[in-house]
Amino acid sequence: MSVRVRFAPSPTGFVHIGSLRTALYNYLYARKNDGKYILRIEDTDQNRFVEGAIEGMLQAMEWAGVNHDEGVVIKDGAPVEIGEYGPYVQSHRLEIYQEKIKTLLESGHAYYCFCSKERIDEIREAQKAAGEMPKYDGHCKGLSAEEVEAKKAAGEAYVIRLKLPANTDIEFNDIVRGKVVVNTNDMDDQVLIKSDGFPTYHFAVVVDDNSMGITHVIRGEEWLISTPKHVYLYQAFGWNAPQYVHLPNILNADKKKLSKRQGDVAVEDFMKKGYLPEALVNYIALVGWSPEDNQEIFSMKELEEKFSLERVSKSGGVFDVNKLNWVNAHY
Ligand code: GLU
Ligand code: ZN
Repeated sequence: MSVRVRFAPSPTGFVHIGSLRTALYNYLYARKNDGKYILRIEDTDQNRFVEGAIEGMLQAMEWAGVNHDEGVVIKDGAPVEIGEYGPYVQSHRLEIYQEKIKTLLESGHAYYCFCSKERIDEIREAQKAAGEMPKYDGHCKGLSAEEVEAKKAAGEAYVIRLKLPANTDIEFNDIVRGKVVVNTNDMDDQVLIKSDGFPTYHFAVVVDDNSMGITHVIRGEEWLISTPKHVYLYQAFGWNAPQYVHLPNILNADKKKLSKRQGDVAVEDFMKKGYLPEALVNYIALVGWSPEDNQEIFSMKELEEKFSLERVSKSGGVFDVNKLNWVNAHY
């Protein structure tokens, strides 16, 4: 099976160098394996949409030379799509999610939930006060088809949730982390379709990665805790899950997650300051991955040849602007 990977940013603001690194590792893995690298826009959270974020992200990637084979590109100043697996923008795929959720409702892997926000907040508060993990209590799981139809006919708002089996181990292998096992008792009946009819990230990501033929999901480690939900969704659909690769965070010198307060973290900042794109790419490749020898200066071609997922580190990589400056000066 040929390698297909994707970078799936949400258009919520500036491009963090951590996102550039995620995109770069996907790109390098595709090039090394003669595969395809796809760029998909994940804009299902309409409240977080930032005007111009898609354009800014595509410009940053173009500047860095991290070019995709399929997905959204800018042509004559406007975003257009290339490739046969589209649409590549989630808000253009709403009919696909509606179609797919029907399958899960019919097979009994999902259910309608009419609980009000007040009720959900109440159970969460009570659970928190009791020191328990906040989680939906399954109140609507037993509604009959007639009850559901009656509530829908009365115009009651609803979401659609994943129906998890009790006390079942969900297992997957992560290429960086190794075997991961989580019991469904420690998981929540995740919302899959929101009350506005939009899918949640969790539902859309599984439907899209499957329909776009994604073989390896390479993304930041903040998504590791969500992966058991995704793996269960693949099982519920009867699909094969992709290989997972969760990348360690990029840290600052104090070993904390790198954030805007400590200095430049947006690709745009480095663009404006006149850094060579090759130098930033070269340096960022080395924050979390190491070659077999001590080589420090790489062309993109060399990175494409030498990159391997096996040499991605488990622990966070430290971003050191002095080292970036050194690479920039020696490039
Ligand atoms: N849309 C998610 C983000 O912006 C992508 C997560 C994923 O790669 O699955 O971080
Ligand atoms: Zn409910």
